[in-house]
Amino acid sequence: MQPLNQYQPQPNELQGRVILITGATDGIGKALAIAAATLGAQVIASGRNQKKLEAVANQVTDPSTLPMALLPLDLEKAGPADYEAMAEAIEKNFGRLDGLVHNAAILGERAPIEHHDIQKWLRAMHVNTNAPFILTRHCLPLLKKSSDASIVFSSCDIATEVRAYWGPYLVSKWANEGMMRMLADELSNSTVRVNSFNPGTTNTKIRMQAFPAENRDAMQKPAAVTKGYVFLLSAHSQGMTGQHINNN
Ligand code: NDP
Repeated sequence: MQPLNQYQPQPNELQGRVILITGATDGIGKALAIAAATLGAQVIASGRNQKKLEAVANQVTDPSTLPMALLPLDLEKAGPADYEAMAEAIEKNFGRLDGLVHNAAILGERAPIEHHDIQKWLRAMHVNTNAPFILTRHCLPLLKKSSDASIVFSSCDIATEVRAYWGPYLVSKWANEGMMRMLADELSNSTVRVNSFNPGTTNTKIRMQAFPAENRDAMQKPAAVTKGYVFLLSAHSQGMTGQHINNN
């Protein structure tokens, strides 16, 4: 594999690929939706806020790009019927999926385990880990219809570290690493690869919630970290599966 920092996507690198991105309304997911559409993908942008989704789609003004498909889905509240309707709509409109990016996440509460608010813990675990499981479960038949499909989990430093008081954010990211590795193993004889990507410190809402005193100007912008996701979604990462990739 070439070092990620030397990877430069070609124009139309993602042409012909149908890619679903969660949390496409802000931060890294929004930047990735725009980058992927610009590189030729048919993006299915998912988020909990329809107006924000429309605003993201409207930022891609190049007439040669495919209009984004918008998929309103609140990962905290969605039930079985919502996921079934989503899979049916993708099947009907596109027939398959070539990429699925589990990007949406919330920070949740940080507190000692003995003081954790149980509902807040369950909510963060649901958005960060259960929802990616349910979404994957519903999307796998569509991903298996692709000749070259890629699932990417958004990871981070604490998915491989121990830090006291980080609560469900840390636990969910560890769980997602386990889910990624297990799924990669389950799909090892298929055309679906599964990896996780740690974008590194990026100037977004969740970062500011986690580290309010950090210098925002010194951080990379969301658009700067999209390259790594594009690599994992493109034909360049064929054959690579079960890997945790760090951006820096
Ligand atoms: P943001 O807070 O900017 O974006 C989070 C996205 O998740 C938003 O689009 C948000 O929607 C969406 N989201 C939250 N809850 C739900 C829900 N219930 N249903 C649907 N969508 C929801 O954070 P980032 O862009 O930084 O985070 C993206 C990923 O990158 C996360 O997985 C994060 O853990 C990871 N990451 C980020 C790092 C960083 O430094 N920024 C470092 C390492 C990893 P809405 O717009 O409605 O709020």
